[in-house]
Amino acid sequence: MGGPHVTFMYEEALNNNVDVVVRGEGEYTTLELINTMEKYGLDPTRLRTIRGLAFKDGDQVIRTQDRPPIRNLDELPPPARHLLPMDKYTLFGKPIRIVHVMASRGCPYGCSFCSTSYFWGRMIRYRSAKAVVDEIEDAVNRYKTNIIVFTDDEFTLGKRFVYEFLRELEERKLDINFSCGSRVDTIDKEMMIALKNHGCTALYFGVESGSQDTINKIGKRITLEQAVKVFQWAKEVKIDHVGSFVIGFPWESIDDMKNTVRFAMKLDPTYAQFTVATPYPGTPLYYQALSDNLIEDWNWEHWTTLKAVMRGYRFTKEQAQKMLQWAYVKYYSRLGFLVRELIHGRLGTIISAIKNSLVPWFTERLLRRGE
Ligand code: SF4
Repeated sequence: MGGPHVTFMYEEALNNNVDVVVRGEGEYTTLELINTMEKYGLDPTRLRTIRGLAFKDGDQVIRTQDRPPIRNLDELPPPARHLLPMDKYTLFGKPIRIVHVMASRGCPYGCSFCSTSYFWGRMIRYRSAKAVVDEIEDAVNRYKTNIIVFTDDEFTLGKRFVYEFLRELEERKLDINFSCGSRVDTIDKEMMIALKNHGCTALYFGVESGSQDTINKIGKRITLEQAVKVFQWAKEVKIDHVGSFVIGFPWESIDDMKNTVRFAMKLDPTYAQFTVATPYPGTPLYYQALSDNLIEDWNWEHWTTLKAVMRGYRFTKEQAQKMLQWAYVKYYSRLGFLVRELIHGRLGTIISAIKNSLVPWFTERLLRRGE
């Protein structure tokens, strides 16, 4: 097994029938592991020589040396998309051809609730713009799509990369639509316009909170004023923008959570995403929640950010859950929002989103109530 969860919880995985855990960035570790297994099986003496692993030798859990991050990401081949059912993806119940691309790994900020910096490292590493556009060009031709979603946490952090990428798109006359993640302090209006002119249809911003105190506590290093300014630019540039907000940090009160929702409504992005603070393993928030005994739900399947798993110092887990529902209802039932969706001809999408996610949720609640 590999990925963020088992990287930090490898002992638990190994005690639950997993033979080997690939910790951290996995490509070279997996390659070495497979080559070794082909020759020697799971011989512990051989596994000990592979950096980035965890496994059991008898009852003893062995964690080998950490593997340093891959310096040149261009060494990696593109994802094996031909092994994926590319024609089976849907959005709100409708088939969609879409390609996810990752141009960078890592983040220097180390926010306390986010595992990115702790998994990929506290330094951003970009692929070359040429390699990224090569991958996009190939995917566009092969899968007959022009919809690209960048999975990077902070695509706009590297200004030089962004402009090289746009130049590369222009030179190859690639007509794509793409969306990417940004920060309110790493984008300016000029970059927004350039992105839009080259096919960027939506920008995703983690604003996280309506309280500067919380923003400071989580280490996000942005200001509320920056968020107001950037969201205003996005409106002027007429580019869709999504604001992401987290409620239920341990130190918050119910009023603080309400203020975050009110701030989201003040910013009024095209769409707002609300999640409940989830103390993912490996993050400072996890160690805080653990030492203060805040975690009340250890069923990992519930750790989705849409289900509260911890209480705070001044609220219960159930109250955090209720606040999350309140946030969505409050934001999306505004007349102004519905009218805007109607004007943009997107009301149908919203209705089908509600049908596909809220209706099953309400049905489940009703069924549970009847149990
Ligand atoms: S929330 Fe964004 S800025 Fe903060 S660590 Fe995660 S990726 Fe970096």
